[in-house]
Amino acid sequence: MAGVRPGWRLNQGGQHKPMTYQIAVLPGDGIGPEIVEQAVRVLQALPIDLTFQTAAVGGTAYDAHGHPLPPETLALAKSSHAVLFGAVGDWKYDQLERALRPEQAILGLRREMGLFANFRPAMLFPELADASSLKPDLVAGLDILIVRELTGDIYFGQPRGIRTLSEGPFTGDKQGFDTMHYAESEIRRIAEVAFQAAGKRGGRLCSVDKANVLETSQLWRDVVTDVAKNYPGIELSHMYVDNAAMQLVRAPKAFDVIVTGNLFGDILSDAAAMLTGSIGMLPSASLNASSQGLYEPIHGSAPDIAGQGSANPLATILSAAMMLRYSLDAGVLADRIEAAVADVLAQGLRTADLADDSTQPVSTSEMGDAVLKALK
Ligand code: NAD
Repeated sequence: MAGVRPGWRLNQGGQHKPMTYQIAVLPGDGIGPEIVEQAVRVLQALPIDLTFQTAAVGGTAYDAHGHPLPPETLALAKSSHAVLFGAVGDWKYDQLERALRPEQAILGLRREMGLFANFRPAMLFPELADASSLKPDLVAGLDILIVRELTGDIYFGQPRGIRTLSEGPFTGDKQGFDTMHYAESEIRRIAEVAFQAAGKRGGRLCSVDKANVLETSQLWRDVVTDVAKNYPGIELSHMYVDNAAMQLVRAPKAFDVIVTGNLFGDILSDAAAMLTGSIGMLPSASLNASSQGLYEPIHGSAPDIAGQGSANPLATILSAAMMLRYSLDAGVLADRIEAAVADVLAQGLRTADLADDSTQPVSTSEMGDAVLKALK
């Protein structure tokens, strides 16, 4: 895991900028290659010097090299400024031992690149408000960002296991147990990321914990409060996770940026994503201490529609926008992509996942063409 750097900053102006950014392109399985192709076309149309190098990952890599994350793919990812990732997985690999399954590639990349900060925006373009299970006026124009710590918490804490109890009222029973913990510096670095992200958006940060019950959360709250002293322009609030879950479905637009631990973030980010009702629209980013990032849609490889040219490429195109904003210091170009996506939706263009009975859906490449045309 990458070490803590007290002066950690999201990539932003004033630093030395390379002449050319290298992007590792890992299309993966299923619809991955189809959607990534469209995102690369959009990136190539922008005034920024990028070089793209493609490598195998997931089931495709297992078929070709016997491992879902071959050493050359990992080396390329680690040596690039950013990784554009499609999706991995297919039911045909379900019989493989766990370590060789396509999904292990993502876990390996997270671990090896030290990607501790997961950014999951939940945005709902006004034209798609009907896709949500909530009333359109509650979600139209929704734009929140969940910053989830990704490499610590109860998912990684030791000890863990299943043991047989030798005392107490349940003597003789098996007992499952896990350990929740966060070190102060782990909390500090994710808090820094979240405050900086809030500074690039609406300037409001809500830290979510369970400090009324958990010691881990009490430390989390103390550290986040301390980090806030360095960010006087950001409005910090704290919320218990049960209340946060309730508020997300009651009045989601009240949030700007949420920062939380791995476990709570796992649950809240999926709930927030589903507020939008359109899985083909949501991007994500996972960043390390050097602002190197892996950018991918939140959806999977959709084997059921792979090869049909019908997949929605917008989540991947929006992931490319996040890459520009958070790893390549090109927020203005990210804004242009997001505006182009809003434009094509306003024109009424829909891939099959978004189309209703009255709309003739466009193909994956036609949607890519339309975004390219709409880039101002
Ligand atoms: P999925 O997200 O691939 O698909 C769920 C449903 O949404 C399917 O009906 C699919 O057709 C649709 N869908 C997803 N993305 C779409 C898009 N861009 N455009 C249009 N429709 C889209 O989830 P699943 O079916 O549960 O999983 C399929 C495979 O993907 C599994 O092997 C799973 O392990 C893997 N997976 C990978 C990732 C990843 O690579 N990060 C994430 C989740 C699942």
